[in-house]
Amino acid sequence: MNAVNADLHCHSTASDGTLAPAAVVRRAHANGVDLLALTDHDELLGLPEAAATAAELGLRFVPGVEVSVSWLDQTVHIVGLGVDPSNAALIAGLDRVRSGRDGRAAKIAAELDRIGIHGALEGALRYVGNPALISRAHFARFLVEAGCAKNVHDVFLHYLARGKPGYVDHVWATLEDAVGWIKGAGGLAVIAHPGRYRLSHVEMDILFDKFRELGGDAVEVACGAHDGGQVLAFARMARKFGLMASRASDFHGPEDSPIDLGRAPPLPPDLTPVWSRLI
Ligand code: AMP
Ligand code: MN
Ligand code: MN
Ligand code: MN
Repeated sequence: MNAVNADLHCHSTASDGTLAPAAVVRRAHANGVDLLALTDHDELLGLPEAAATAAELGLRFVPGVEVSVSWLDQTVHIVGLGVDPSNAALIAGLDRVRSGRDGRAAKIAAELDRIGIHGALEGALRYVGNPALISRAHFARFLVEAGCAKNVHDVFLHYLARGKPGYVDHVWATLEDAVGWIKGAGGLAVIAHPGRYRLSHVEMDILFDKFRELGGDAVEVACGAHDGGQVLAFARMARKFGLMASRASDFHGPEDSPIDLGRAPPLPPDLTPVWSRLI
């Protein structure tokens, strides 16, 4: 199964990626990906263009989404794979999640203004490809342009992350809603990049247990955000909770991402790849 070069999580200009959906698909194809999911944040807008390009190239394509969730005091991301983009409850749910972004963006800009960084909203908007979807990644690009940090990674060390200036608490979807929308739209629900969450072992176990109980299917084991130790640690979590495993670059663009499309490490061979249910 690992002979399949699956990349089941990436972004386009429909959210906070820097390439248009068609360009993401072309780059994936050029990189040797043979099963690709586009998973924009809280948004399905890029899927028709991506699917059409994939069909032209003969690349197998999975319609996806990455839903922003508030869980305990953290933001957790749940990827949906193989969702029906015309599902009314999914569309309505994502509309609601997206609708909070403009207000949050204004607050982020006000926080940055307070520390002397002016015009951040207008600056971030210059990087936005979809007016309904302004993300911290757009602010990050503006902050690099403004000379506040040398790259996007550094921005998050000094700004926009919890405890730093420019961070604004926000309430996203519940875990129940996110998994419910994905499953209701015929998709598979996947915990995205668990290594990024600041949760204790006990809290991580509770998250996985709750996710499983809600009907969640898989966890990203091999992904751009995980080092080798985390791949092994979340492989153990997949076994412990009976979840399938996913492989994902979380690609946002050639300049912005540590890992290119199709270049995540392989899955440990004993795990069941989530794509066994997608192909
Ligand atoms: P938002 O959904 O608006 O809170 O923005 C989250 C996005 O910001 C993520 O999907 C990434 O694109 C970006 N991001 C968050 N943390 C980091 C980080 N440490 N390094 C680079 N990008 C990050
Ligand atoms: Mn992003
Ligand atoms: Mn994410
Ligand atoms: Mn992502």
